[in-house]
Amino acid sequence: MTPVPLRRARAAAERLAKQIRIRSPQDIELEDIAWMFGARVERGDLPGAHARLARIGDRAVIRLSSRVADPGAERFSIAHEIGHIVLGHDTPASDAVCEPTPRADTREAEANAFASELLMPEVLVRRRCEVSPVSFEVVRELARDYQVSLLAASLRFVELTSERCALVFAKQRRVVWVARSKSFGAFIPAGMALDQSSVAIDFFTKGSLYDGCQPVPADSWLEQSGAGDVEIMEDTATIPEMNAVMALLWIPERVAGRLERT
Ligand SMILES: [Zn+2]
Repeated sequence: MTPVPLRRARAAAERLAKQIRIRSPQDIELEDIAWMFGARVERGDLPGAHARLARIGDRAVIRLSSRVADPGAERFSIAHEIGHIVLGHDTPASDAVCEPTPRADTREAEANAFASELLMPEVLVRRRCEVSPVSFEVVRELARDYQVSLLAASLRFVELTSERCALVFAKQRRVVWVARSKSFGAFIPAGMALDQSSVAIDFFTKGSLYDGCQPVPADSWLEQSGAGDVEIMEDTATIPEMNAVMALLWIPERVAGRLERT
């Protein structure tokens, strides 16, 4: 069940998308949307932060670091700061790292939920998330069409799909966080060491990754007894600037029953 503040944030973005008649990704003109709320977008030096929101009376300035080179990441930063304005948050000090990742701070999580819904409206995107087989290939298309990072698109995909899949973010050979689809079922704990038979571990041991989705023993990721007899699918992608790897796990329908029975 989605926590209430996040539902409120998504609902606010949905209302806005309806109001400005977003019917395709090209309609999501973030600087125009910011201007609707009295905010100007500026780029410049911003030591130690990706984005900052400053209020001057009823005007606001969304200042972006010119160091953020990825246009997808920049779009997420702008949408996130618009979220703070629309949701009536007090001026946050700064968004040191403005990423679409799960955040412990409620206001940050709300601004992320708002940004994700504004940049990839559920009404436009849900149908694209109902695909099988699941792999980064479909997520990359989503990222390209909606001009967001692969990370943002992956999180949105996992949130909306009815397939059993999970996005694992790993650094230093350990799981940092996991986002699961509603039907995934299995639990993968943060802090878990990557299994030697996973594909993701190769990034840390060999410095390279197999290109494309491949079958792995289910027990390289899941704890269910008997999971070793079943194979699930694992696709991987690196985020070099974070020295991190993402693994997209998918439990195909044909093996789901065998996992659930054990
Ligand atoms: Zn923020």
